[in-house]
Amino acid sequence: MNGADSDSIEGMLLSLGMEKATNGTADLVLYNTCAVRDKAEHRMVSELGEVAKAKRLYPSMKIGILGCAAESLRPSLENRHYVDLIQDGKDLEEMKEAVLTLLPDEIELTPDVLSTHRAGHLSGMVPVIRGCSYMCSYCIVPRTRGLQRSRPLEEILQETEACLDKGSKEIYLLGQNFLAYGRDLREGLKPEEMVRAVHDAFPECRRIRFLTSHPHDVTRSFLEVLSSLPRVAPYFHLPFQSGSDAVLKAMRRITTRAVVEKKMGWIREIWPQASISTDIIIGFPTERASDFDDTLSLVDSLDLDFAYSFLYSPRPQTRAWEMGDPIPHTEKVDRMTRLQDLLGSIWSRKNAQWIGNTVSVLVEGPEKSGKANRFTGRSPSWHPVHFTSDIDPTGTFVDVKIERSGKTSLGGVHV
Ligand code: SAH
Ligand code: SF4
Repeated sequence: MNGADSDSIEGMLLSLGMEKATNGTADLVLYNTCAVRDKAEHRMVSELGEVAKAKRLYPSMKIGILGCAAESLRPSLENRHYVDLIQDGKDLEEMKEAVLTLLPDEIELTPDVLSTHRAGHLSGMVPVIRGCSYMCSYCIVPRTRGLQRSRPLEEILQETEACLDKGSKEIYLLGQNFLAYGRDLREGLKPEEMVRAVHDAFPECRRIRFLTSHPHDVTRSFLEVLSSLPRVAPYFHLPFQSGSDAVLKAMRRITTRAVVEKKMGWIREIWPQASISTDIIIGFPTERASDFDDTLSLVDSLDLDFAYSFLYSPRPQTRAWEMGDPIPHTEKVDRMTRLQDLLGSIWSRKNAQWIGNTVSVLVEGPEKSGKANRFTGRSPSWHPVHFTSDIDPTGTFVDVKIERSGKTSLGGVHV
């Protein structure tokens, strides 16, 4: 979500003739921040110290803090005299208007300055919903981003087009609660109808992804439509957070383990080629050792392709905040290690099944190792693929024959 907003703000500034700074002397420094866990907030605050030092050397520099942590950390940010702007992330247009107030007077604003501009990144991020109306007890999102507002289809199509025009090769349709799309729209469009409309409007777009889905809202109709759209990548991110009914209840997740199992079963049945991932929170205040064992047993039975796990981080003004953070950090880390060990063994086995297949990879760039002729991208199933190629295929789709597999990635050669 932040990526999408940042791309839009960046696009606006570029349209006004600004350039992206490549060294430490920018005229304008913007942080678009996350508040989902305290770690993200801490990182922003510590980076801010560095920018404050730069501003001492270059006093005309303007510093703006945007997004969720601008809201959650407002009182402490207001005490920092070097911060010129604090603007929450509820409304993109308001964010853009706020950023414009930081520009020097000599910059002439164009009449269309607030309309859809995108800087253009390989993956075009298109929010289809802003905010969330669910009330998971650990989650700060409804407070920082507000209640759910689905965007009308025309706006989604317009923004997708803007991304593709600026060179994006794949589109991510984004919502905190993707499957609730349309509930708040008068025309009552269903999420599968919206995805189909985007799919059919842009035949040149070879890959469409969507994030994030709540198990409660998975329907057979959604799966049937999505599995029939050839350019929707076969990948389903379905966070379940915990395998224990008692913890799910305390989390106010409105689902049970049985619902999660049923919905995962539907995905396997209706869209068998889809890889599946989840999010798991470790160390929620009421999570006993036996609850965590339930999470392990659920993970073990679901044969997931990926899982993102997070140590519980208490967030002020959420319902769970009052429960404190009673599980010691060492215990949380120990549970995390056990989960990672289990996931590692599942993925080693599952990823080996890709060996011998040829997959279409959207190439992000040279491999981080810096080795000659090595590149990295993602397969339709979301697997990172590292491969050898004689030419530099960055920014294009290439076929890669998988020859090796690891716990978290696949390896191969451009064919
Ligand atoms: N809307 C998405 C999740 C958005 S936040 C959904 O409901 O699936 C992304 C992930 O961050 C969540 O799935 C959860 O696993 C994690 N998360 C959210 N709040 C957290 C907290 N307070 N502590 C630790 N992890 C958290
Ligand atoms: Fe947060 Fe729950 Fe909404 Fe996801 S569904 S954004 S976890 S409140």
